[in-house]
Amino acid sequence: MRQPPPPTALLCLLCLFFGLTLAPAAAQDAPTAAPSAATETSPAVPIPTRATRIPPESTINGTHARLELYFRALNQGRTGLARVSIMENQSDLHIANARALFLDGFVDFFSGDTPDDGVYGLLTANMEQSTRRENPLDVYVTFSDGTRETLSTTVDVVLGEFIRQIVTLPPDTAYLLDAATERNELAQLSSVFSTVTLEKFWDSTGFAFPVSTALTSPFGAFRTFNEAYNTRHTGWDLQVTLGTPVMASAAGRVIFAGFMPIRGSHVVIDHGYGVFSGYSHLSTTHVTRGQGVTKGQVIGTVGSSGRVSGPHFHWEMAVNGSFVDGAQFVSMWMP
Ligand SMILES: [Zn+2]
Repeated sequence: MRQPPPPTALLCLLCLFFGLTLAPAAAQDAPTAAPSAATETSPAVPIPTRATRIPPESTINGTHARLELYFRALNQGRTGLARVSIMENQSDLHIANARALFLDGFVDFFSGDTPDDGVYGLLTANMEQSTRRENPLDVYVTFSDGTRETLSTTVDVVLGEFIRQIVTLPPDTAYLLDAATERNELAQLSSVFSTVTLEKFWDSTGFAFPVSTALTSPFGAFRTFNEAYNTRHTGWDLQVTLGTPVMASAAGRVIFAGFMPIRGSHVVIDHGYGVFSGYSHLSTTHVTRGQGVTKGQVIGTVGSSGRVSGPHFHWEMAVNGSFVDGAQFVSMWMP
């Protein structure tokens, strides 16, 4: 019989330095997107389920191709789906590739489920992105005959819905508040996330949670440790017990399997096109770097390695080099 760990044990201690150094003006200026009472824990929320395909929220017609956005605005820390397809009267053309420029980063598009379905791109706003209306989005489309077209529109970035948490660490864990350790670990992860594999490893069933259990401490939470250290939470904490098998969220290739001071025994899976999932504080790891994994494959077991106050599972996702809300990502339809 599984017993949930005590609430304080669920608190993830990741990324203390992250908030100290990278907390943006937007986050500081407007932290009250979804203000809540300062608490150490959040009520458990059920596992979100994947949405079915939805109609686009906006359509931009070009001469040969069409751009569709499946979201109205991008919340900080969230991912939005874009699609490029051939206009009906241009059926002799095919899309060779498409690449977007958005918020100073390039996004490569991947093929849909069928050749006629067009290509799709994942647009992200990181959790600390400044909120602003009408951020330019330019999608450069190359057709099979070598001709090109640029489709342009704008995207509003709006506040995320992040809670605040006050966390008290006991004196014997004061060493956790070490800026250099945080900085080094984030730099290492940033290097991992910068590798964009132009191959889509996930399948049409999308992504899933690595363990079947309620979510507790949410992505993006503003955390204050010991009344002094402001941090952000880079993933979700899931309510689990020691030894629970951890499954790959989708197919991919292991790009990191090793020890990190804060994340402990940690695995990162590259799912292709800049999508990564990370699994922290494991007790055992069943995969090695370079190994291909299938969706649902057990890659390790829940442990208490790294900087935790007890058995604890932290799951994070990164897209286009930024940590994103994995719960939202899993619940979003995409091919
Ligand atoms: Zn965590």
